Amino acid sequence: EAGKERLREINKQLSALTIQFNNNVLAETNNYKLVIDNEADLAGLPQSVISAAAEAATAAGEEGKWVFTLHKPSWIPFLQYADNRDLREKLYKAMYMRGNNDNEFDNKALISEIVNLRLERSKLLGYKNFAAYALEERMAKNQENVYKLLNDVWAYALPQAKKEAAELQAIADREGANIELASWDWWYYTEKLRQEKYNLNEEELRPYFKMENVREGVFMVANKLYGLNFKKLDSIPVYNPEVDVYEVTDADGSHIALFYTDYFPRAGKRAGAWMSSFRKQSTRDGEDIRPIVYNVGNFTKPLADTPSLLSLDDVETLFHEFGHALHGMLSRVTYHGLSGTSVARDFVELPSQIMEHWAFKPEVLKMYARHYDTGEAIPDELIGKIEASGKFNMGFITTEFVAAALLDMDYHTQTEEQQYDVNAFEKASMDKIGLIDQIIPRYKSTYYSHIFSNPEGYASGYYSYLWSEVLDADAFQAFAEKGIFDQETARLFREYVLSKGNTEDPMELYKKFRGAEPDPVYLLKNRGFIE
Ligand SMILES: [Zn+2]
Repeated sequence: EAGKERLREINKQLSALTIQFNNNVLAETNNYKLVIDNEADLAGLPQSVISAAAEAATAAGEEGKWVFTLHKPSWIPFLQYADNRDLREKLYKAMYMRGNNDNEFDNKALISEIVNLRLERSKLLGYKNFAAYALEERMAKNQENVYKLLNDVWAYALPQAKKEAAELQAIADREGANIELASWDWWYYTEKLRQEKYNLNEEELRPYFKMENVREGVFMVANKLYGLNFKKLDSIPVYNPEVDVYEVTDADGSHIALFYTDYFPRAGKRAGAWMSSFRKQSTRDGEDIRPIVYNVGNFTKPLADTPSLLSLDDVETLFHEFGHALHGMLSRVTYHGLSGTSVARDFVELPSQIMEHWAFKPEVLKMYARHYDTGEAIPDELIGKIEASGKFNMGFITTEFVAAALLDMDYHTQTEEQQYDVNAFEKASMDKIGLIDQIIPRYKSTYYSHIFSNPEGYASGYYSYLWSEVLDADAFQAFAEKGIFDQETARLFREYVLSKGNTEDPMELYKKFRGAEPDPVYLLKNRGFIE
């Protein structure tokens, strides 16, 4: 009974502490502005980025200046293109020091408390640590399996990242920059390398990725795979004029779901992209209650004279979140608690990540990537460049991800409560795996919202994206072998993955779809680590 009382107390504390963590990240993200009033400091930036910064300045009451923020659509282009190295450093440091500034929004003490409370709670429930508690119901089952996957991939990723760093350094040297490559230089020289290797400038691609066209594209993919149809409804009230609603029907015309999209940043809106539902699918008294699902994003906003033109990253995210939406919409189960995306955390990214595979396939691009102004389909030359550059920078992308996933595991496999010196713990964790100075983990502890902004959230679960990628790479291979719109493969995927929710063991479901357990080799191939 004393134990129960203590559990209640811990839950209450975790809830309060994680809310505070989240609020601190929000405050640190929103409070910061890099205000530029000297036009020379904009050198290197594309016009679209400058225009967006000017609009941001006006909105912030800094008319006539340029404002950059710690929101990704703002800081990433600045890091990619701004010639002014000092300002790149300043903005990047502001980004990665969030929650670590020893001010009222500092998150270090909260992290220590959260990690310790999770451990205490897990022990009260009979587990040796939080990871053991969290992983029991996942596909991975235990920490050994998680570390094995992460370390296996790390062994390919880190050497690749070092090779990339050397290539970037070589460009800087050749340009006579006289610098030692630092983390705030990575994006900048990566853009130059991308340009050099593929003659590909992300900005020249954007006109082909108007948000409305991309959304139409993902609908077409769902139509070709599953026979779904999407009809825009103007009669349904929405909570903001930027929101659109669609009725989704099956091949036979029967109602499947309502689907909402809410794709642009607004003041007060949470950053990132996600799927959720107003109503989950379930069956009540024999009646199939169909779901109401939404996708939220923070994609590049339309400007006064241009529509919303997405980056490749945005496009991938839109397809990804739509995959979650399909998982919610195609659910056919009895209990809403087992419905749609209510599945193991390391299984839930399979339906979303597999959708990303279709986004940039040439025949799919031909369907939706049309110039917003001329209506011209994306030229083969650009498609070729997108394909060729698909594995570009993969050492970096994988390294920053796996570093963050390992950091998460390192916190949550501790078996003793302790006073954490968060910066020292993080450094030790990264030193242990030999992370290079030019790369920081995708999330540093003090703004690692995935693992610290919810009582449980993705704690001991950030690895899930990679785990799911083993699945999605292997699953897409089934399509690749038979044709990317192969109807029988699509039927099996819908039947055993998209419609079953959490009603059966995920590995059993997967095997029913694929006929075998997933083979990690396709992940390594997709990332270009092996031939
Ligand atoms: Zn996802």
